[in-house]
Amino acid sequence: MDDLNEKKDALIATAKRCFDLRLQTNAGGNLSVRLDSANAIVIKPSGVGFNECTRDNLQIVHLDGTLELSDYKPSKDLDFHLDLYRIRKDIRAVVHCHSPWATGYASAGIEIPCLTVQTIEKIGRMPLIPLSPQGGPQTDKEISPVFEDPKVVAAVLANHGTIGVGNTLIKAQYLAEIIEETAHIAYVRDTLMAAHGKTAADLPQYGTAADARAAEQ
Ligand SMILES: [Zn+2]
Repeated sequence: MDDLNEKKDALIATAKRCFDLRLQTNAGGNLSVRLDSANAIVIKPSGVGFNECTRDNLQIVHLDGTLELSDYKPSKDLDFHLDLYRIRKDIRAVVHCHSPWATGYASAGIEIPCLTVQTIEKIGRMPLIPLSPQGGPQTDKEISPVFEDPKVVAAVLANHGTIGVGNTLIKAQYLAEIIEETAHIAYVRDTLMAAHGKTAADLPQYGTAADARAAEQ
């Protein structure tokens, strides 16, 4: 596991960034990264806050679900993390947090619209994944089918939080930030539209000037 400490340090830095931005307070949420040197991941353990991750408390779990011996319990969401790595080779990191603007939309049962050019470019669509059939937290049974579409890089869990994935931790973290930022912008837009009696507003069709040029041809 040559890259173990490098990946642990990247996870600690990303978790701290997520905490500092107040995308995740307390001990909720979780994040993980795949090792290059083994068929295994490093994941935040259950009951440890994003701001309290250390080389000593992070857990190593093999993709077949085997846990390396540790004093900590695995994250409650371990199964969906493992399954995302199994179904998509391009996924090398997962950031899941309960950021408030996005989770507000998710609790209202409203899919966050991709209403900025950056969201169109970087995400395209953020599917809203409903609660489990029993009304509980989403598991790999609800989450994995959505991510089987290779274009999906971000999703929002009803009454729960957000998921960003990427080939590095910082890319998954950027998506967690864009999801939250977009939910905030959407709330401001919807509030202003209601205050001004507007019922419709433009949405971008393309994320970049290059996409726009390609569409014209
Ligand atoms: Zn959660």
